[in-house]
Amino acid sequence: MLYNYFTEKLLGLQGVLIENIEEIDDTIHIYCKLERKIHKCPVCGNHTDKIHDYREQIIKDIPAFGKFVFIHLKKRRYSCSCGKRFYEKNSFLPRFHRMTNRLVAYVIDKLRCEASFTSVAKEVNLSLPTVIRIFDLVSYSLKELPTALSIDEFKGNTGKEKYQCILTDPENKVVLDILPKRTKYCLSKYFKKFDKSERDKVEYFVSDMWRTFSDISSVWFKNATKIVDKYHWIRQIMCAFESVRKEEQKKFSESHRRYFKNSRKLLLKRFDDLNDEQKQQVNIMLYTSPNLCTAHFYKEDFLKILDCQDRQSARKAMSDWINSAYDCGIPRFVKCAKTMQNWLTGILDSFTTPLTNGFIESCNNKIKVLKRNAYGYRDFNRFRNRILHMFSLKSAKNNTKQAAV
Ligand SMILES: [Zn+2]
Repeated sequence: MLYNYFTEKLLGLQGVLIENIEEIDDTIHIYCKLERKIHKCPVCGNHTDKIHDYREQIIKDIPAFGKFVFIHLKKRRYSCSCGKRFYEKNSFLPRFHRMTNRLVAYVIDKLRCEASFTSVAKEVNLSLPTVIRIFDLVSYSLKELPTALSIDEFKGNTGKEKYQCILTDPENKVVLDILPKRTKYCLSKYFKKFDKSERDKVEYFVSDMWRTFSDISSVWFKNATKIVDKYHWIRQIMCAFESVRKEEQKKFSESHRRYFKNSRKLLLKRFDDLNDEQKQQVNIMLYTSPNLCTAHFYKEDFLKILDCQDRQSARKAMSDWINSAYDCGIPRFVKCAKTMQNWLTGILDSFTTPLTNGFIESCNNKIKVLKRNAYGYRDFNRFRNRILHMFSLKSAKNNTKQAAV
């Protein structure tokens, strides 16, 4: 009795009598049956404990002690005086299933990481189609919108589309949804599903400088302040500077060129943050190239704008920079000045809030790993569910945290 009590605890299956346990290579076989009980006949409702016969069913369970587990359940059929024969009830196995409920839950839990379906299938000793069939039970849909939305695209290469969109709540760091395309039509169709009252709750809409995102925000989120992601507009300047550096570098002899290449970091870093020796190195490089010197000046001047503490001072600094950069004579920076002018409101509004697309960037990196592990996803819905499932644990935790507060 005691022995049985502990194996029942260990197995976690209620009312099961273990008859034998065998270990064969990397498998464990547990032979068991349920306690004999009085059952109610599903046809006439009379009670019976008369056994008709037994049939063995093999059920896969969660791997234990590094071995695959098979439960051999001796299923009992009862017979009633009305002639009906029926199987006994059990709590761990739905009818016609070949695996335990908890194995299903285990598989779904395993799929929360970036691992591919194939590797999870191998780990739990199930076929790939079975694991996919289990996962297709999972589904997510967004019902409510948060006060801050942040949107971005990523290269998902799924459903014949190169780019997909990711929608997040940057304040609570929650992935809200994945959309199949980044087109205006697709985004409109999606946001149209939400009631106006729901959409009006959105106070901030954070995105990069993709015109479609901005248009979508104007149409569907009339109450929202459009924020241009800070990292994104800063990157424009850094990229412009990098391309000038590369062009200038090409003009130099081999020995110079190598020197420039290794000094990339020094040139990109804020001049004030360098030590004396590094400052001298940078000065030598700038001395050899007037173009690079000009570009470096505008880059440094731009970075000073980031020190502004409020919208008003940022407005003054940004306008000064734009006006001056228009005449700098370096096409890449003139282009930057135009871009900054075009997106000025959204850029200045990014000084009024700490919200950025930083969280999305980190999500995109995880998605990249998920995609790489599976060598890509063809089916968009499955890919979407994998992504939302991967981030769901975190949001569940966040939600409880919020509830606790
Ligand atoms: Zn009956």
